[in-house]
Amino acid sequence: MSFKNLQLIEPILRALSKEGYDTPTPIQQQAIPLVLQQRDLLGCAQTGTGKTAAFTIPVLQLMYAKLLAERDSKPPHPSRRIQTLILTPTRELAIQIGESIASYGFYLPFRHKVIFGGVSQHNQVQAIRNGVDILVATPGRLLDLMQQRIISLADIKFFILDEADRMLDMGFVHDVKRIISHLPAKRQTLFFSATMPTEIKQLAAVLLTNPAKVEVTPPSSTVDIIQQSVYFIDKQRKQDLLKKILQDDAIKSLLVFTQMKHAADKLAKILNAAGIRTEAIHGNKSQNARQNALQNFKTRTTRVLVATDIAARGIDIDELSHVLNYELPNVPETYVHRIGRTGRAGASGIAISFCDHSEREFLNDIQKLIKKKIPVSQTPVDMEISEVNTLSKPVLVKGQPSIKRNFQTAGNRPSGSFNRRRQTGMHFNSGNRQR
Ligand code: AMP
Repeated sequence: MSFKNLQLIEPILRALSKEGYDTPTPIQQQAIPLVLQQRDLLGCAQTGTGKTAAFTIPVLQLMYAKLLAERDSKPPHPSRRIQTLILTPTRELAIQIGESIASYGFYLPFRHKVIFGGVSQHNQVQAIRNGVDILVATPGRLLDLMQQRIISLADIKFFILDEADRMLDMGFVHDVKRIISHLPAKRQTLFFSATMPTEIKQLAAVLLTNPAKVEVTPPSSTVDIIQQSVYFIDKQRKQDLLKKILQDDAIKSLLVFTQMKHAADKLAKILNAAGIRTEAIHGNKSQNARQNALQNFKTRTTRVLVATDIAARGIDIDELSHVLNYELPNVPETYVHRIGRTGRAGASGIAISFCDHSEREFLNDIQKLIKKKIPVSQTPVDMEISEVNTLSKPVLVKGQPSIKRNFQTAGNRPSGSFNRRRQTGMHFNSGNRQR
């Protein structure tokens, strides 16, 4: 199947070809025809599946058809009005959506603007006053500008709610509901969420009219293409293991996840002190600092980016081969979101996790969600789990596969630095400590 089979107009096909895309991803194959039929859509898909193009491309095409129809029947409108609103939880994601609109709409005459909080509103207000067709926004700044009567949603024809479950996680649901109450009733709505907890289903039911449903790569299957492994390691030895792993030159870039902001900063300091160029991004950093850190990572000026979940949400880095969970998340879906930073759009990727005693239950929850056991990498002998810390009798998890190599790159290159193997299985048992 090629994009040509999706009845797309020439300016969009040309833009896609300029981007180097020829084959639509599964969500694009399913969603584009439905949106072009002007159906409301409920999409269960996460970042990395190509969902941004799945909603942007058909909406651009519908907007263009409308523009041509109105040009023939009505006199030109004196000023541009916002017809399409894309609501997304984070600034990074908003910026990326803006970049997608610029790419796919390159040969179309629409103007778009991305707005988010944490920066001056001046430039955003100016752009809106000059006229915008498509607005990409995070909820807080949008509400703020609506309250100041700078933005009106009265002319919205297309509304896209992106990453609805993350809106819920980040406490934005109330804001989202307020925004929704200002939308005209007659509109086409596209609703995307990686997971569908009850509250999200309820929100979708309120927002959508007779929606078509598309579901691709639900969390359990998204991770199949990613080579995953877990090291059982004492908390205090994690930094040494990470440094050892980074001795492998094949790891050009590594995205590392920590749970807390201060842990991200601390780890970045430790790695820099060890001569490994590292930056940290998290919610306490300014928007500029986050963008710079991201840019340095993308251009490989820094080798390691340490991120917390919220800051990393929507990070889109082509060819990111390695992700490492320095700490396991206590919400299993977050694991899927994290490792989904690699293995994008069908590419393979490697996800390594460190698991200490206190995280054992998190690992169990993750394995339940993804419906498979994550292969155990043998911890280097000098970093084995200390027996003192083992809370009860050692156990081998039944059915737990063990990978004989310790760490491999995408090219299956064995790492020379991990030659000493433990002969035994995993001597580790879960504790009940909670984060
Ligand atoms: P998304 O899920 O929207 O975050 O997209 C994930 C990545 O896949 C982005 O880097 C897109 O540029 C890329 N992508 C989306 N659709 C395609 C496609 N049909 N062919 C190749 N790459 C794509």
